[in-house]
Amino acid sequence: MAQRPPLHRPQGYRLKREGGRGPRNPEVAKVHNSVRWQRLRAAKRASNPTCEDPFAMHESSGRVVLADQVHHIVPIARDPSRAFDMDNLMCVCRACHERLERGEQPKRVQEGGGGRKCS
Ligand SMILES: [Zn+2]
Repeated sequence: MAQRPPLHRPQGYRLKREGGRGPRNPEVAKVHNSVRWQRLRAAKRASNPTCEDPFAMHESSGRVVLADQVHHIVPIARDPSRAFDMDNLMCVCRACHERLERGEQPKRVQEGGGGRKCS
């Protein structure tokens, strides 16, 4: 396993802020803390329990990986109106979600209208 390089933090960096991942858009926190989001996320995961494999890394290893996270394809911070849009959600495993959150571009781009969907 590759180890991530240690994060460089400026002096006085507050770890506990908004879940320890640095400053967050309050809109994002509001969505994540809402009952509506908890329900939608549960429904999404129930409809598709496996990782959508955006980087095609599970496919190449021939494994099916359970999704334990739900990712916003268009980030809430960019378009809060799509925060609860089922079509804007993607079921992913932790490893894929971390890559997405780091800004890596998925190999599979979900395009609107009749593309590959959770079944
Ligand atoms: Zn995955």
